[in-house]
Amino acid sequence: MRRFSLLQRFAVVSLLLVVVLGVLMAQLLATMVSKRALQSATDAAVLTTTVAIQPLLTPADLANTLPAEKAAALDRAVSGSRGGTEIARIKIWRHDGGVLYLADPHTTSPVHPSTVPSDELAEALEGNIEAEVISSSDEPDNAALLARYGTLLEVYVPILYDGEPGPAGVFELYLPYQSVRDSIRADTLQAISLLAGGLVVLWLGLFRTVATASRRLRDESRRNEYQALHDALTGLPNRTALQVRIDAAIGQHRAPGHSAVLVLLDLDRFRDVNDTLGHGHGDALIRETAARLTAHVGDEGVVARLGGDEFGVLLPDVSSRAEAVLAAEAFRAALREPLEVDGVPLVVETSAGLSMHPADAADASAMLQHADVAMYVAKRTHRGVVVYDRADDEHSPERLRLLADLAVAIESGQLVLHYQPKVGVDGSLQGVEALVRWQHPERGLLPPAEFIPAAERTGLIHALTDVVLADAVAQAKLWYDAGTATPVAVNVSTRTLLDVGFADRVMAQLAVHRMPPSLLCIEITETTIMEDPDRARAVLTRLAEAGVRLSIDDFGTGYSSLAYLKTLPVHEIKIDRSFVAAMTHSEPDRVIVDSTVALGRRLGLAVVAEGVEDEATRDALVGLGCELAQGFLFSRPVPAADLRAWFQVPQTMSGARPTG
Ligand code: C2E
Ligand code: CA
Ligand code: CA
Repeated sequence: MRRFSLLQRFAVVSLLLVVVLGVLMAQLLATMVSKRALQSATDAAVLTTTVAIQPLLTPADLANTLPAEKAAALDRAVSGSRGGTEIARIKIWRHDGGVLYLADPHTTSPVHPSTVPSDELAEALEGNIEAEVISSSDEPDNAALLARYGTLLEVYVPILYDGEPGPAGVFELYLPYQSVRDSIRADTLQAISLLAGGLVVLWLGLFRTVATASRRLRDESRRNEYQALHDALTGLPNRTALQVRIDAAIGQHRAPGHSAVLVLLDLDRFRDVNDTLGHGHGDALIRETAARLTAHVGDEGVVARLGGDEFGVLLPDVSSRAEAVLAAEAFRAALREPLEVDGVPLVVETSAGLSMHPADAADASAMLQHADVAMYVAKRTHRGVVVYDRADDEHSPERLRLLADLAVAIESGQLVLHYQPKVGVDGSLQGVEALVRWQHPERGLLPPAEFIPAAERTGLIHALTDVVLADAVAQAKLWYDAGTATPVAVNVSTRTLLDVGFADRVMAQLAVHRMPPSLLCIEITETTIMEDPDRARAVLTRLAEAGVRLSIDDFGTGYSSLAYLKTLPVHEIKIDRSFVAAMTHSEPDRVIVDSTVALGRRLGLAVVAEGVEDEATRDALVGLGCELAQGFLFSRPVPAADLRAWFQVPQTMSGARPTG
């Protein structure tokens, strides 16, 4: 049965059922037809006797022997009964079981029918009509009659008179039945043919419907399978399909020293294309990239789209690491060829990450993950092609678990904000910086360094920033309503700053809490800005125009030129902690702090010294004319509630920390 398709099995089983049904129905039909025929023949016989013969007899006739003139009348009636039903033989039985009258009206040769009472006669004498078809008989007289008529219907009809308690006698009639029989056969045959035809049509219809439905289902499931394994935009295998292919490649035999290599390619600045030229162009670029890669790779490997602007190329058999790098370089070169997307000329740069089996990955998911790590290193360091190195990997199992937990933590409110005061020379609280911590259910309070970098890589940073922003603005609003307009600063990382919707979300938060935008400060590092200066400028300008304050964090650690920073709508710079901490014992650091303070002043920017831990540093800063500072000397970052004293006791840069 296994060898046959489901449809074939259905065909056979349903056909069998239809045949069985047909046979049963045919039998039923045949029985019904013959029963009906028998009934109507019997009815006719009863009618003939009661209408044509019985009136000739009186109950008295039936009690005695028949007078000759009555017998003659009966003879006439019997042979003249052609108009109704032809009678082959008639016997009239008396109640006592004797034969009153007997005639074979159409038989010429003399016969001597039996005058022995039968069981049927006994039944008829009880008042029941008995009928039976006979087509053969042992009795010689019946045999002669059968030879003449073929088949006979034998009917016993009780002779009843009104007012009499039981039958006065019984008619035993033999009627020719062959023609009825023939027509029964013909009728039955016709009915059965019709039935069979109907069933065949029914079965064919059923089969057709099921066949069509089954074909549709098969097509549908094939389509679903295709969709589950392919990317809709490019038709390339998707991540799932690639995983299957990697597993297959890993299982395959290779010469010693050879590797299966996964190259992960990510377009640089694809987002710009999407944002500036529109999604249509973005899609076209992705399709073109897919086509080029596929053409370039040919039969050598498998090209897949992993989502967004990320492609994977699996090379199942590569002889060396150098060859793998060369191949990846060749992919990049092929994609770098200038192309036109709807008339717009573009040059696409890509970053590639490589992972190799068996050297650094044992299974498909490790290969994908490692190639991903390498690709991010390539992106970050602008190195083009990077082969996975364990040292770059932050995807250790516990880090990964932490990341999974982080998604939950963001949603379930495990992130808490601590606030660190920005203190002015006059002792006033000039503002606070919101610094996020993760109140981890098992590991306790985690510092941002433990989860922010991973959140940035995975995109969780957007949700995280949204939560921080909402909490910080809500807290600032509480202070504001309590009568202290304390600006609150929120740290924003590169990915968030370059996120298209970010400025809108900031404005929405301010609107929700009905907070003056000037009470919110966004801290961005130099490196964040330099990663994509044009875009950063667009976002920052929008925020600044709305009234939000902007601060350059960790100032001095990046490579931004001051000339460039001057063109940005910045209000504040924060001198990096490393310079401030070293300024009392390192002359170059002191000079850097000095010139930064002077420069900030000249540009009209507020200058904050970060990481002031001791009084010597504080004094040195005051000496340089630095007007704002932040550091453990004044306060560590603490929960909002612990800042209460700061709002009550005026502070100076003297370092006299309020308690409580
Ligand atoms: P940051 O923006 O430079 O924040 C200042 C960091 O220096 C804070 O570390 C703070 O606790 C620490 N600090 C302040 N005063 C002193 C001092 O006198 N001595 C020393 N040694 N350290 C001091 P924290 O809270 O661990 O934050 C580290 C970094 O994490 C922050 O550096 C910031 O870049 C990032 N971060 C914090 N919260 C957020 C956030 O909500 N979003 C994003 N994207 N990044 C955040
Ligand atoms: Ca900061
Ligand atoms: Ca900083």
